[in-house]
Amino acid sequence: MSEPGSSQRDSRYDILFEPVRIGPKTTKNRFFQVPHCNGMGYRDPTALAHMRGVKAEGGWGVVCTEEVEIHPSGDITPYIELRIWDDQDIPALALTAERIHEHGALAGIELCHNGADAPNLWSREVPMGPTALPVATFQYHPVQARAMNKRDIRDFRQWHRAAALRARTAGYDLIYVYAAHGLSLLQHFMSRRYNQRSDEYGGSMENRVRLLREVIEDTRDAVGDSCAVPVRISLDELLGAEGLERAEVEDMIGTIGDLPDLWDVTLSGWENDSMTSRFAEEGHEEPFIAGVKKLTNRPVVGVGRYTSVDRMMSIINKGIVDLIGAARPSIADPFLPDKIRHGRVEDIRECIGCNICVSGDFTMSPIRCTQNPTMGEEWRKGWHPERIRARESDKPVLVVGAGPAGLEAALALGKRGYEVTLAEAGTELGGRVVRECRLPGLSAWRRVKDYRELQLRKLPAVAIFPDNALDASQVLELAVPRVVVATGARWRSDGVGRHWTQPIPIAESARIFTPDDILDVSLPEKGPVLIWDDDHYYMAGVVAEKLADIGLKVIYATPAAEASTWTRNTLEQGFIQTRLLNKGVEIIPFHALARVDANLATLACTFTGRERSVSASSVVLVTSRLPRQQLLLDLMTQQDAWLDAGIETVTAIGDALAPATIAHAVYAGHRYAEELDAEAPAEGQLPFKREVTGLWP
Ligand code: ADP
Ligand code: SF4
Repeated sequence: MSEPGSSQRDSRYDILFEPVRIGPKTTKNRFFQVPHCNGMGYRDPTALAHMRGVKAEGGWGVVCTEEVEIHPSGDITPYIELRIWDDQDIPALALTAERIHEHGALAGIELCHNGADAPNLWSREVPMGPTALPVATFQYHPVQARAMNKRDIRDFRQWHRAAALRARTAGYDLIYVYAAHGLSLLQHFMSRRYNQRSDEYGGSMENRVRLLREVIEDTRDAVGDSCAVPVRISLDELLGAEGLERAEVEDMIGTIGDLPDLWDVTLSGWENDSMTSRFAEEGHEEPFIAGVKKLTNRPVVGVGRYTSVDRMMSIINKGIVDLIGAARPSIADPFLPDKIRHGRVEDIRECIGCNICVSGDFTMSPIRCTQNPTMGEEWRKGWHPERIRARESDKPVLVVGAGPAGLEAALALGKRGYEVTLAEAGTELGGRVVRECRLPGLSAWRRVKDYRELQLRKLPAVAIFPDNALDASQVLELAVPRVVVATGARWRSDGVGRHWTQPIPIAESARIFTPDDILDVSLPEKGPVLIWDDDHYYMAGVVAEKLADIGLKVIYATPAAEASTWTRNTLEQGFIQTRLLNKGVEIIPFHALARVDANLATLACTFTGRERSVSASSVVLVTSRLPRQQLLLDLMTQQDAWLDAGIETVTAIGDALAPATIAHAVYAGHRYAEELDAEAPAEGQLPFKREVTGLWP
């Protein structure tokens, strides 16, 4: 889809739109949506099919599924992926392939047996792997895998073959053999860590790669020339000699170089592959990928959170890859290829590398994205990342506050054609993101504001007024029928959060800071500084980094077992704790801040209540936020004046209603715009579509 009047692309980018042969198939361009999880899987098949379809519509030449379990003995419950256990799974998988084909893309399916990583909590099969070892999941299930015998290996090959045939029946063009991310039985066989066998499947590199070779041959034999057979492999586990290392994996690739039709290369585990922008820059996997093409005549696809066209051009021109692999950039902007094709590079909604998308998989909820509020809502709510229906009234809207919620509301309303006034108290737009992007590692978050500000400037019906803090009387004077209060929130300074729901005792002489003070660059002058994290997301961790960076002694106390514990859901926790420890931050887990006196903080063990004192010249409270609701409350108490002022509705959205993530705020802004003048769901109807499991006939 191109915007009316859009220009044609820069001819330098033509190379990105060259077709590439992948075995018996040809992709129309070099944009390749690699497999990615999404928390919808077998539970929400129609929503999932539509999500993939929108990527194809946006111009991706290849669109793949997430991992698809081939057999109940490789059941990754509680995670919700796809399944191809028997023929009953074919219709749901076929729906996704159809949606992808409708837009001329190739459909890829990632067949997977989770092997020693599968606790089989749903199927209750006994887990199995190359060697008898505990199941290696994120959650330490008290379950062990048995060592596979020759019969098991034969069975596994047969299951993979049957799954490949079903995948072909379901209409897939690329049928993946998956050996990556530590999530696949085939990788477990490749790795000395998991494979301690003494038969022909263990020991030497050639033996450990034997099963992979056999399964590639089986798959090709099963699907013949009708489908391509890519292999997804991890080049390094970043565990040093303990894990798979690049040199060894390159040897493995060398021995089977031209057996698959495509090499899809990654890092392992998933946290190393999908690193956030806080810990890795665009293209961080390039040093590992460079060199793979020398080992094979087959095309190579690699990822690296690529959103910059010049960077994409560079890795193609340097011969590092043949295809630009993307999961997150395709989530943040399903229309990225189309925008490049039509010379609209500046319209790309660039991924910020926050991994909120990943948290969908970890929380078993449908995928959501900070930048793209329509992600996962394509079918549930009928939202589209590029199209929105025209306005249904002539009534203008006043949006107060230009944080993520207000910016997205104004943008989506403006695209609908509403006349919008956007007022912002600060001199800059962006609310919390322009403030937080100055904290260590968060600079890419600025894109939330940059993208929206640029798009807003293209909408003549949106008037933007920075440096305009509005009070209720000014809002009444403006006499705009619809008022959106997107005034955000501020951090509390009384210790109230999850652990304590009442203020904690704080001496008047104590020096207390909140993240807002840190953002205002009003910093503690001397240490030690105690940071009390009862928020559990990224904020306490970045504040600790910032203060350690200016040379202060930092102590980090949390009632949780670890720093920033929620960031397990964004694959960051391990990196955060490592960085804090390396910066000399002392982490005290399982302790609640009981009270603060001048130069002294008292912590209580969350189990025994036993107290300990910590010398601290200042304390930073990272607990929870209070909605900035003065304007809302004032307008509500003056409802009698609304009629004269022509005001019909006043609606609080985003953090001003209930503080949450930036993704929640963007979603709230978009939702307001989508639902304005739409008919409310009838009594008893839900505000979204859902699929309900059918009863056994
Ligand atoms: P959200 O995440 O919900 O978008 P933010 O805190 O990021 O919330 O943004 C809220 C924005 O609203 C901030 O930029 C703040 O300066 C602005 N703001 C707050 N009160 C007013 C007001 N009365 N008038 C105009 N802007 C306001
Ligand atoms: Fe990128 Fe964050 Fe969206 Fe994921 S949620 S695609 S990391 S912007």
